Amino acid sequence: MRFLIISDIHANLEALDAVLSDAEGQYDQIVCCGDLVGYNPDPAAVLEWTGKHCTAVIRGNHDKAIAGVDSLEWFNPVAQASARWTQQQLSGDQLTYLKNLDKGPLTVEGFEIVHGAPFDEDEYVVTADVAAESFAALHRMVAFFGHSHLQGGFFEKGRRLGQIGRVRAAEPEYAMELDPDTMYMINPGSVGQPRDGDPRAAYVIYEKDMRLVRFRRVEYPIEATCRKIRSAGLPDVLGLRLFHGQ
Ligand code: ZN
Repeated sequence: MRFLIISDIHANLEALDAVLSDAEGQYDQIVCCGDLVGYNPDPAAVLEWTGKHCTAVIRGNHDKAIAGVDSLEWFNPVAQASARWTQQQLSGDQLTYLKNLDKGPLTVEGFEIVHGAPFDEDEYVVTADVAAESFAALHRMVAFFGHSHLQGGFFEKGRRLGQIGRVRAAEPEYAMELDPDTMYMINPGSVGQPRDGDPRAAYVIYEKDMRLVRFRRVEYPIEATCRKIRSAGLPDVLGLRLFHGQ
C-alpha cells in the first residue's frame, strides 16, 4: 500500500492541485494530518475535496477554532481575521464536517497520524525534548504529524534521537529508507503555507511495503493564490509570506 501523506493544506487550492498532479499515480490512499482550512482563500473547495478523497483525516487547531470547538482568542490577529472570514465562507454542513473531524492520534493501517504531538494535538514537535516525549507516547513505530509546517521530523533508535534530512532547494525529493528498529515522527511539511524557507508545496509519499518515505516539494502558482487573498479582503501578509515559505 502506498500513501499520499499531506498536512496543513490551509485552504490553498493551487498548492493542493500542484501536489495532486505531482503525486499522480504514486499512491493508493490519501491521509491528512489536519489544518484543512484557515489563512488562505479556498476553504469550501478544500473541504469538499478532503471529504471526497481522503481515507483518514484528523483535525488541526485551525479546524477546531473555525468550527467553534476551540476559542479564537489564542490566535494572533491575522489568524483570527482569516478564521472569521473562513467561518463566513462555509456552509452549515461544512462547519459540521470540521467539527466532527477525529482528534489525533489516529491509527491508520499500522501507523499513527497526529496534528501536533501524540500527547497533545496542539503542541509543536520542533525541539528534541518534545520529540523525545512524543516517541514515548507513540504506540507504533511510524507516525506522521504536522502543525509546525516544517518538513522532516525526528527518529529515535534506542536512546539516540536524530533529525530527519530534507529536500535540497534545487531538488524535488529526499528519499529515506525506514529501519525496522527505529521509531519515526515524520512531518510531510505544509501543502498550503510552508514555513521552512522553501516556498514549494510539501508532501510525502509513504511506500509502506517498501519501507520507503519520499519527501517531495513542488512549485505552484503562488501569484494566483496571492491575488485571491487580496480580492477576498484577507490580510496581505498572508499572501506575501507564501513567496518566502515563512
Ligand atoms: Zn497549520
